[in-house]
Amino acid sequence: MMKQKLAILGTLLLALSLAACSGMRRIPEKTGSVGRCNDGYLVGGVQLPSSGEIIVLEPQFAYGTPTLVHSIEAAAADMRANYPDTVSMVVGHLSRPEGGPLRPHKSHQSGRDFDVAYYAKDNQLIRGFVDMRRGKLDVAKTWEFIELMLEHADVQYILMDWDVQKIMYEELRLFESEWKLRKLFQYPRKPGNRTGVIRHAPSHHNHMHIRIHCPDDDWFCLD
Ligand SMILES: [Zn+2]
Repeated sequence: MMKQKLAILGTLLLALSLAACSGMRRIPEKTGSVGRCNDGYLVGGVQLPSSGEIIVLEPQFAYGTPTLVHSIEAAAADMRANYPDTVSMVVGHLSRPEGGPLRPHKSHQSGRDFDVAYYAKDNQLIRGFVDMRRGKLDVAKTWEFIELMLEHADVQYILMDWDVQKIMYEELRLFESEWKLRKLFQYPRKPGNRTGVIRHAPSHHNHMHIRIHCPDDDWFCLD
């Protein structure tokens, strides 16, 4: 299967270089994520709309693959079902309509990344991203959201500041199994340790960055 995928990928890369030479931008009829999140683009992207459950901060930068957009909507709907009075989920950037570079990010180029606010204590609605290292974080609701995303999407990783991981981990260990937490969190290992779905990255004390894997049947997408 992998050999077949590599062969098709090779054909794609050849076709892309020929297309570039002839001035064409891309192969028509392909939809989804093309290439890597740091150096790819998006074809047939779907816009994540604001709704009763979701506030999209910048709609013009809220395009993703259908898989990503549907998984965010499913998680938001379940959050509302589990917490009927909850404030809406606050979502930052996904990608541009056709992907490609999007400041200030290195990734967010191929419709498989999105930024989302942490849930704040006292059901406070914050229409933006604020530092959660000083007692504002609602651990239970943020954890519920993470579990729903893991359920609805094939999550590659979640970027979360190490100090926020520590706050989450130390509260969650009171009612979650240590085995499960150690599988998902990088903490209490060091920030550079490449273990766990939830990993440290600078500047992620005020929001999480979530990336989903390429779908198995998407030959043009690179993890
Ligand atoms: Zn991001």
